[in-house]
Parts: sequence; C-alpha cells; structure tokens
Amino acid sequence: MQHIVSISGGKDSAACYMLAMLRGMPFRAVTADTGHEHPATYEWIEKLSERTGGPKVEVVRADFSKQIQRKRGLVQTKWVAEGVTDEIVAAALDVLHPTGNPFLDLCIWKGRFPSRMAQFCTEWLKAIPIETQLFAPIRATEPVVSWQGERRSESPNRARLPRFQRVQTIDQYDRVIFRPILHWTAENTFELHKQFGLAPNPLYRQGMGRVGCFPCINSAKAELAAMFARWPDVLEMLRNYEALVAKASKRGQATFFPASTTPQGVQLVADQKSGIRLDEKLPNIDAIEQWSRTTRGGRQLDGLFVMQDAAAGCSSQYGLCE
Ligand code: SF4
Repeated sequence: MQHIVSISGGKDSAACYMLAMLRGMPFRAVTADTGHEHPATYEWIEKLSERTGGPKVEVVRADFSKQIQRKRGLVQTKWVAEGVTDEIVAAALDVLHPTGNPFLDLCIWKGRFPSRMAQFCTEWLKAIPIETQLFAPIRATEPVVSWQGERRSESPNRARLPRFQRVQTIDQYDRVIFRPILHWTAENTFELHKQFGLAPNPLYRQGMGRVGCFPCINSAKAELAAMFARWPDVLEMLRNYEALVAKASKRGQATFFPASTTPQGVQLVADQKSGIRLDEKLPNIDAIEQWSRTTRGGRQLDGLFVMQDAAAGCSSQYGLCE
C-alpha cells in the first residue's frame, strides 16, 4: 500500500507531510502545478524536502491542448450554426491556442472562470492530473491511500467529512482518502511546523488567509485587498486573463469573480435617450479591486478580519485546495 500526501503549499498539507514523516514509514508527496501560484509557494514546495528531510515533492501538471483543439472545431461548426456573430467567432479562434499555463488554458477551454458554485478548477487542475499521472500507474500494482489536509473547523462542508473516505470521481475511479488532521485547529498545524523548525509559507505573514492559486477564486475580500496592495502586478495579470477568456466565451464577457461578488452585481447598460437595454456589464477585476478596498460594516480592514473571512474555505470534497 502506498501512502501519498497531497501538497498545496499551505499549512494543512504541510502538517500532513510532517505527520507522515513521524509515522516512520515510506511515503510519497505530490503537488499539482496549476500555473497560477505565487512564486513564494513554488519555492516553498520545492524546498520542503530539503528543509524537513522528507521525500521530494513530485509535480504533476494538467494539459488542455486537446480540449482547446476540440473547442476550435466546435466554434467553427456549432457556434456558427447557432448564429453566434462573426466577430465573436473570430475572437474565439484568435485566442483558442494553449498558453502552457494550466489555469489559464482551462478557463480558455471552458470560456469562463471557475467559481464557488462551479468549482471545476480543483477537479481539472488537481484531482485528475494527480489521479492519471501518479495514482493510476501505482494502483495497477498496489492500493493508494491519499492523505489530505482538511480540517473540520474550516467550513460547514468540511465539518461533515469523515476521517476515511472512498470517493468516486466523474471518471469512475476510486480514491481512498485519509484525513489525519480533521480535528486539528490552525494553531495545531503551526505548532507542528515549529516542532520541525519549518517556517510556514511566507504568504501567511503577508495578509493571505489561505495559500494556493494566486488568487484563488475563493479568496476573501480582505485577502484580495492585501494582495492588490502588496502585489500590484496581479491586477494587470488578471486584466489580461479576463480579456483572453472573454474572447473564448460565447457571451464575449468573462470576469475572474462572479457578478454577485460586489454589491452592485451586474449593471445594465441602456441607451441614454430611449432607455432601451443594450448590454450587461459584469464587475471586472478593476471593479473587484475597488470593492476590496471598501470597509466592511464601517470598520477598517484588519488582520483578524483577514483570518475570519478566509475561514469560509473551499468546498471541494477532495481537499486538494487549502
Ligand atoms: S486553489 Fe482555488 S482557484 Fe486554485 S484550484 Fe483550488 S479552488 Fe480552484
């Protein structure tokens, strides 16, 4: 039986890794490179083995070249047959080429960004690559136990999770999940870091309540405020993402965060004279950046708010995102 610890770059998966070391039995560690992490997270994962004496973290990566190629065919046939305008078809064909960045390529293929209600990113960027590139070849000869760093106190969804679970995914494969830190608090995970002399991912000291995609589609308001203030280049990167994904969308629009994120939501654009509705305007990343700087309930943002708001957590059942 092979034990494999999934590493996200966050404190919880690191705690699982260190617990696996304490167990004193051989294990492997894996991370799925989404192409959308902070450089500090890549470096932290790369150095984890050297800093703890545990196994090197193996890296898997999704590739959406085939899906993007298939979508080009659909745009040229189905979209045209459905009466999608020449302008939108030409824009989609212009952008439907793999960039080599798994997160961006997934969004270009889907013509939209993932959201809390449609969180296909965890499955496509993490669960499937880990399953197909690492678990499946091993499972041909022996069972796999997948260690996941979920904690019940993170969210109502995670509060219901069992310690051991056998899940079946969309591809009908089985996965046995072991959640060794289910009853732990966040403080417990940091205590284990101390015991090993391992500094947690530095992003925790820089206003981030969770570590993973940068930003994650589940990022809290205060995390976004801290991120835009500290790393202004992220805004330009996300503007570029939105422009590319909008071109791959049949609607000709795509925003990184859903319209419901801001209090204004979708804004209707109407003709000034007639008042006839012309279009809908979604809150783009610039609108999100402005919203992230507003106060909540009249209070200024503070570090406590960062941690409280971030605790809503990811609702994925696979525990591959922090
Ligand atoms: S970290 Fe966030 S954006 Fe990245 S795969 Fe997980 S849920 Fe999706």
